[in-house]
Amino acid sequence: MNDRAQAGTSATLAAALVRPEIRALSAYEVAKAEGMVKLDAMENPYAIPATVSSRLAAALERVPINRYPDGSADAVRASLRSALGVSDAWGVLLGNGSDELIQIITATLARPGAVMVAPEPSFVMYRMNALYAGMRYVGVALKPDFSLDIAAMLAAIERERPSLVYLAYPNNPTGNLFAERDVVAVLKATPGLVVLDEAYYAFAEASFLPRLAEFANLLVLRTVSKVGMAGLRLGYAVAAPEWIAEFNKLRQPYNVNALTQAAIVALLSDRSWIAEQASAIRAERVRLATVLGRLRGVQIYPAQTNFVVARVADAPRVFEGLKERRILVKNLHGWHPLLEHCLRITVGTPSENDMLIAACVELCP
Ligand code: PMP
Repeated sequence: MNDRAQAGTSATLAAALVRPEIRALSAYEVAKAEGMVKLDAMENPYAIPATVSSRLAAALERVPINRYPDGSADAVRASLRSALGVSDAWGVLLGNGSDELIQIITATLARPGAVMVAPEPSFVMYRMNALYAGMRYVGVALKPDFSLDIAAMLAAIERERPSLVYLAYPNNPTGNLFAERDVVAVLKATPGLVVLDEAYYAFAEASFLPRLAEFANLLVLRTVSKVGMAGLRLGYAVAAPEWIAEFNKLRQPYNVNALTQAAIVALLSDRSWIAEQASAIRAERVRLATVLGRLRGVQIYPAQTNFVVARVADAPRVFEGLKERRILVKNLHGWHPLLEHCLRITVGTPSENDMLIAACVELCP
């Protein structure tokens, strides 16, 4: 008998039982990048320095993987507190990437009828998680220069009384940092929690972490993904302990695995390599933006991230041309009307950036 004889029944059952809004989705597809110059996913292009990697190897060797990890990951939280200068007055919550924290925070606040507000275009997982959790999502378009449309944001907040607002600071996929006064206005107006997603903090000139004490409804979300440790999957949230205690109830007991915990403690015991790599990336971002900005028909937007957004004459053509030259970037064309003919280019190593520039010179003469 064909071992898939039940396929028809399974399809019928899935059609009848799976929530229609989930059936309407397609699963997130990560582009295959075998043998490509990978400038599509905001990764740090540098490997860890040799001295750090031997420290890492020694730490991993000692991990008793027959045991469950420390469920509260105390050593990791202590490392992060010391790295960030976060006192015990604040709670720290860890996730399997900040993606998981977005899921936990959203699910916790998804009371029947609750609303999430976020600017658009922004990180798509906010809207996706509203859908997963059954929360109503209201997007507010950014201005054409990608700044917050603060009047529209405040009007939406007044109208919707959201339980949850997400602001990516700096924003993905536009790369810019919203004006601090606009963020403060959102914090003051919002009756619910405002998650300031600082995934790109290492490349930006501002942070709300030092301002936690001013706003009872502020949570700062971060990740180690953009500073050289994307493969470890660790995100962290810092907020008043009253918030963190609630989110902790939705967290899976062992959500950060033992190898990641040991690795993070070893990697953060000396952090100079992180700052050095971030500073090299910032310098390369400036070079990329300057050189690409001189090409005919290319407009570069100001970025405080490890990527730049370039508007070109024909984004699908440039994207394909880059791909033919084994360079992978993100084509934002079609994502949102404000992103017409935009490409998102992650800053690579100097030689990767040289290859990208040479290819763009050919493609945007
Ligand atoms: N927030 C923002 C704004 C992002 O751009 C990303 C990743 N692209 C994330 C969160 C998720 O990061 P991770 O799950 O790797 O921590």
